[in-house]
Amino acid sequence: MPSRFMTSDHLYPSLHQMVLFLGVGVLIFTMSLLGILTRPEGMLAVLWPANSVFVALLLRLPAVNNPVGWGMAFVGYVLADILTGNDLPMAVSLAVTNMIGVGAAVWVLKPVSNEHRTLQRPLFSLHLGLGAAAGALSAGGVALIYGLLFADPHPDRVAIYWVVTEFANYVVILPFTMTVARLPVIISGAQKAIAALRDNVKSSRHALPALSLLFSIFVADLAGGPGAIVFPVPALLWCALSYRFNQIAFLMIVMSALVMVSLEHDLVASLPEDADPMLSILSTRIGIAMLVLGPLTVSSIDRVRSGLLERLEHAAKHDFLTGVFMRGAFMEIGQQRIDQALAQQKPFAVLVMDLDHFKMINDTHGHAVGDSLLVEVAKVIRNCLRTDDLLARLGGEEFAVMASGVSSADAALLAQRVRENVAALRVDGPNGTQICATISIGMRHCAGAEHAILDDLINEADQAMYKAKDSGRNQIVAA
Ligand code: GH3
Ligand code: MG
Ligand code: MG
Repeated sequence: MPSRFMTSDHLYPSLHQMVLFLGVGVLIFTMSLLGILTRPEGMLAVLWPANSVFVALLLRLPAVNNPVGWGMAFVGYVLADILTGNDLPMAVSLAVTNMIGVGAAVWVLKPVSNEHRTLQRPLFSLHLGLGAAAGALSAGGVALIYGLLFADPHPDRVAIYWVVTEFANYVVILPFTMTVARLPVIISGAQKAIAALRDNVKSSRHALPALSLLFSIFVADLAGGPGAIVFPVPALLWCALSYRFNQIAFLMIVMSALVMVSLEHDLVASLPEDADPMLSILSTRIGIAMLVLGPLTVSSIDRVRSGLLERLEHAAKHDFLTGVFMRGAFMEIGQQRIDQALAQQKPFAVLVMDLDHFKMINDTHGHAVGDSLLVEVAKVIRNCLRTDDLLARLGGEEFAVMASGVSSADAALLAQRVRENVAALRVDGPNGTQICATISIGMRHCAGAEHAILDDLINEADQAMYKAKDSGRNQIVAA
């Protein structure tokens, strides 16, 4: 019988699905091994990336959220444990605990909008915290049941240990696994993040925040004491404002590992022999999880802010109707291009174009038709240009073009192409009518040797354009 995860005409999974499922198993196996490396004797691992990786897989690739995907993950968890010396019942019970936690985290995070889940909104930390808490509490619940079933002397301690460690792990690792560019290749994502960090490190200015973070962790390790855990905060904020979100998310993993290892070691060493280290260790782990949320939130807010600024800048430079540059941006960028062309002794041309009898078109067919004609004319002109030529709407039905590296003959050909294509354009008018228009063009070419100011060139091209109007419109006149 075809099941939910196989299309009805394919009873067997396709090669693509098989690779995907195999990938899940291998990934969970590798991540579990990685976690086991950080597992102190007889305790839970300090860093356990497998669950966060699995949660992100299930949320980002719904194709693996089915019995086969879960089965492969189960095999990955169990195999890693058995290979590193656990017996089968222990390996299975650990895998089941992990997977119940994963299921709960996915259940909480699934209805959350993708933008929140992928941390593009500052409120993400709340959702992340809720998902992490659900995962951690369920895993802890299962551990408690096991503890009671197998008459563990301290089932409550085992459960609390699970809850805290799971919570810290989700908070620390999920931001990275949810946002890394191509999730199936977490490792390549990590490599990219390392490479990006290394690139940053190469230019020394960019390296300073990361170096200051390492330094503050080093100082915290030296100083020790209850305040040490917050020593990295200023460096973290600096990093948050200096690096991209992905890099921050990765840095958080590295930092958490370093801080956990150094602080926990010191903590345990500083306690009296008969003291119980568990409370201190758990408190450190929660502290680190909380520490990580700050820079992630700052980085997320910074990302939203940068996006807004980009949109604002775009809106300030571009004409709302036609999408081409507005006069201000054209004057600024155009003058830069002219200065470049002059420095390289390259010729260039400035063209001013004005639609003929546009007022009549508006009056006859309505303003809306005039608007769509403007939009289409802008597209026609754009299509006649090379990608690095500048196009602007100077106002009303008047456009300007700045093209560098063109001979006077090329500029004349360009103007000719625009004139002919505008004349050939047809735009739908009311009642099935077809509206057409013509354009008059004034052209000012510069050989590249003379000093030139864009404003003056536009004036000269404008006067040439008026001559084209005087000689009957739908014409090109060179200044
Ligand atoms: P000429 O051939 O001499 O250029 O005549 P014209 O009618 O094109 O020139 P005129 O300057 O008299 O009229 C320009 C018209 O362009 C007047 C104005 O209503 C119209 N216009 C300006 N901006 C817009 C716009 O954004 N949308 C529309 N639909 N019309 C506009
Ligand atoms: Mg006009
Ligand atoms: Mg005009």
